Amino acid sequence: MPVIAVIGAQWGDEGKGKVVDMLAEKADIVVRFSGGDNAGHTIINPYGKFALQLVPSGIFYPDAVCIIGNGVVVNPEVLFKEINTLNQRGISTDNLVISDRANLIMPYHLALEGLEEEARGKDAIGTTRNGIGPAFADKTARRGIRAADLLDKEVFAKRLASILEYKNTIFTGTYGVAPLSLDEIYNKYCEFGERMTPYIRETTAIIDEAIKRGEHILLEGAQGTLLDPDFGTYPYATSSSPLAGGASVGAGIGPTRIDAVLGLFKAYITRVGAGPMPTRLDDETGELLRKQGNEYGTVSGRPRDCGWFDSVAARYSTRINGFTGAAITKLDNLDTLTYLRICTAYELDGEIIDYFPATIQALERVKPVYEEMPGWQTSITDILKFEDLPRQARDYINRLEELIGCPVNLICVGPERGQTIQKSPVL
Ligand code: GDP
Repeated sequence: MPVIAVIGAQWGDEGKGKVVDMLAEKADIVVRFSGGDNAGHTIINPYGKFALQLVPSGIFYPDAVCIIGNGVVVNPEVLFKEINTLNQRGISTDNLVISDRANLIMPYHLALEGLEEEARGKDAIGTTRNGIGPAFADKTARRGIRAADLLDKEVFAKRLASILEYKNTIFTGTYGVAPLSLDEIYNKYCEFGERMTPYIRETTAIIDEAIKRGEHILLEGAQGTLLDPDFGTYPYATSSSPLAGGASVGAGIGPTRIDAVLGLFKAYITRVGAGPMPTRLDDETGELLRKQGNEYGTVSGRPRDCGWFDSVAARYSTRINGFTGAAITKLDNLDTLTYLRICTAYELDGEIIDYFPATIQALERVKPVYEEMPGWQTSITDILKFEDLPRQARDYINRLEELIGCPVNLICVGPERGQTIQKSPVL
């Protein structure tokens, strides 16, 4: 298992936390490479149940170095809350490292995101309002403050003063609200800087040296492919790339050094926030999937929309990520269904298509073309081998494998570490 990227293949919440927690047993390094504290990974392991937002899911293995990569935007306040919670529950964070190139979320990012979403009215994107989007926008606009900037108070003071002057013209001029105080932000972030200093490192060399030693590295994604700012349901998208390509950039590792790309798919599909979803079910089956699968946001508690497995979106996801294998999660949530549907194509304005359209307008108009398979109507949560699954469940997985276009490596039949079937090796 030299270098494996674990990628959300749908709209996020596929169960990446569980799979990374499981694969991390053999990992020497786990790197979170994108997003910010808008991503919530739920992990259930022998230490209890945890909802991680920024800290990589490998933190439960004290020998694994856990890196918050350059591609992540870090809210220090949220980070320290998470560190405190982990420490109070007996989990050490001595193995945590933060890239010196990671951008920081500043108080004006949170304030601006709230104001921007209000101003969008009914067209609001449905962001978590944690300041992630504005922080990535500033990174691209070269107006970001990075972890390394906190290490030199003079540099930080100058940079913050000039950025805040600009931000305050937006607060007062565009939105007619009070400006933010330079002193308050400066003092608060200097304190954060002191606490963060032991964690901040140049991380590309740490990873490079580990690769040269033949060590095992996991690249942990956040969100999912269909939220990518280029390939997702733009503008209902996230602000950093959750793709395998994003793993390379966000962790600072060349694409040729990634040995396996594991795409995570739920055995059905969910989406949270606004935006189109062709196989959305607004009926009792959708409600059943939501209840049974506890499909509510880990951090936000927002109910997720649920629908049948969408293989058009899945093939697209495989293509743009180059998946070497797939993990199908939450198969057990289909246990009670009498029949299952899989979307195999879309009908768009009377024409059958096999691609994922670029615009949300087209995606809202497409009608899914379904094929139907019988359900297995028995509990599979204790099954450990593929051959022991009911025939209908094996048929369903085999059909998904054909449609997704890459081998299914893992099948998850429950939230706990052990509730995983290995159908074929990840690497
Ligand atoms: P992530 O952001 O991709 O890590 O996904 P979330 O943590 O938001 O959501 C996944 C949820 O599903 C978590 O509560 C997991 O504990 C749970 N989960 C993961 N795999 C399985 C599975 O195979 N079966 C069941 N029942 N729950 C699972």
